Amino acid sequence: MKGRDMDSAVVEHRTSTSSRTGSEARRRPRRTEAEAAVRTLIEWAGDDPDREGLKGTPERVVRAYEEFFAGYGEDPVALLASTFEKTAAYDQMIVLRDIRLESHCEHHIVPILGKAHVGYLPAERVVGISKLVRLIEVFAKRMQIQEALTSQIADTIQDVLKPRGVGVVIDAAHQCMTTRGIRKPGVSLVTSRMLGCFRDDPTTRREFLSMIGARGSTPHRS
Ligand SMILES: [Zn+2]
Repeated sequence: MKGRDMDSAVVEHRTSTSSRTGSEARRRPRRTEAEAAVRTLIEWAGDDPDREGLKGTPERVVRAYEEFFAGYGEDPVALLASTFEKTAAYDQMIVLRDIRLESHCEHHIVPILGKAHVGYLPAERVVGISKLVRLIEVFAKRMQIQEALTSQIADTIQDVLKPRGVGVVIDAAHQCMTTRGIRKPGVSLVTSRMLGCFRDDPTTRREFLSMIGARGSTPHRS
């Protein structure tokens, strides 16, 4: 019973479409409270939040958070659903590669920087390039782990466009790994999510991976 509850909670989180995730019963702190929290962190780090250079910092950090985490206020399903159109005769793979990815890890709230590659084989619907890029942004501008981010992008495309298959590959460096902790600059994490014919048909998967220039073997599947 507990296991079932957890499963449905995970599914709900994954397909949840707006900022209401987990916050319906939770009061959003006021801006002044958020600024006070940043002030506390500055003091905790060992500096004086009242010195000249830091005076406006809590305000700036809170504004930066509004940008970094703008994805909570957006609905990824509505974003894709609003713009689909019928394909004319195009039944080939559509691939967007080297999309700049900026997210934040949910464990340390430090940047995850890298590239995302998205491909799909349309059935009836296609979507504009800019919408796909925006979809990635909506999920990236939340606190994330890369594996979940990869799945959320692929699953939303699958659920809304219902293509014959989807592939998403993300290759990114985590600053929590490169600038702190084990300190391994140059290491990147590659995650992928393959659905439909991208999962079942090795030829399709190979075509996608060669189009995005993936080196050698199939990336780790999430
Ligand atoms: Zn981290």
